[in-house]
Amino acid sequence: MNRPSLPRSAWVEVDLAALAQNFRQLRAELPPATRLLFVAKDDAYGLGVGPASRVALEHGADRLAVFTLSEASELRTAGITAPILLLGERLPDELPWVLELGLEPCVGRLEIARQLSELGQQRGRPVPVHLKLNTGMNRFGLPWQQAATWSRELAELSGLEFAGVLSHFAQSDELDKTFARNQLARFEHSLATLRAAGVNPRLVHQCNSGGFLDLQEAHFDVVRVGILAQGIYPSAVCRRISGLTPVMSVKARLVAVQLVAPGDSVGYGMRWRAERPGRIGVLPIGYGDGYPRVRNEGSVLLHGRRVPIVGGVTMDALMVDLTDLPAAEVGDEAVLQGSQGGETIPVQELAALKRSVSYDVLVNWRHRLPRVYVGR
Ligand SMILES: *Cc1c(COP(=O)(O)O)cnc(C)c1O
Repeated sequence: MNRPSLPRSAWVEVDLAALAQNFRQLRAELPPATRLLFVAKDDAYGLGVGPASRVALEHGADRLAVFTLSEASELRTAGITAPILLLGERLPDELPWVLELGLEPCVGRLEIARQLSELGQQRGRPVPVHLKLNTGMNRFGLPWQQAATWSRELAELSGLEFAGVLSHFAQSDELDKTFARNQLARFEHSLATLRAAGVNPRLVHQCNSGGFLDLQEAHFDVVRVGILAQGIYPSAVCRRISGLTPVMSVKARLVAVQLVAPGDSVGYGMRWRAERPGRIGVLPIGYGDGYPRVRNEGSVLLHGRRVPIVGGVTMDALMVDLTDLPAAEVGDEAVLQGSQGGETIPVQELAALKRSVSYDVLVNWRHRLPRVYVGR
């Protein structure tokens, strides 16, 4: 359990002013009638679902999406009344909570559609749902090939309110948009079939950040933006828009300095050795906080300069070579993700160390790192 009131010399810094600015920028990119949904799943990609959602709603988003009931519950407890789209797929034991919390679930299985309709009839008020269509991602959703069949069935369910219909791109941020356009065509075809059966969902949506940037023809009524609101592009090749800045930084203070002589080793396994007399700085953050478990790879910023990680990252700490930075001393602030002086360690650099994607880095900063909100 994280106790934010207790001091810790390693933390995640969340720049709420940057987040607000990003939302104003994204809002300005869209026609006034297009709605902006903030995908706040996985604790708003690590920012903290409550504070981040509040800023999003104040600066251009008009609805939210989360994946779990507990994330939705946290938002409702914080007094947020905006529409909340519940992503993914539910099992029957979750359905009463969907109603209780006033959520708009994605529905991609007829079985669940029927059960929700039943619950809507019982309470005498239809349950708002967003029909999820599988157009090629093959994760969640009703299969586009069978649109005629499920459309007829859905048209019979009087306990549902069709608040929306959506699909999700399997590939939206790469240069080749062939399959994305294919998915768009399948989506439009399914929509026509659905409407012909008498089901007219209020809001149509297909785009994530990649689609927002590169597939304007698929914007429909709502765009669902996650990573772009964080000031991070989903890939290196998608369209750039000016004025976005990263919201999250990760920082720690030097807590120890060791003097080493030539031949001395650093860390478990003794896989790094000093070649000259030097100084080793210790930062109290490790793989137990979400830092990639690398060895003799990666760097941090100190005094606005890059210093290399030496030895292996340990659970709670990592070591850096301060030999070329004689002014560095205990208490100095280091940046592990983000900017200092003129230097930046982008999240993509950590993703490369982890052989993964930036999303994975953002959401895996553990909650034992306090979230420090600045720019309120
Ligand atoms: C995560 C998610 C998004 C947001 O994706 P980004 O690339 O972060 O913008 C949008 N829609 C669905 C269904 C998602 O699961």
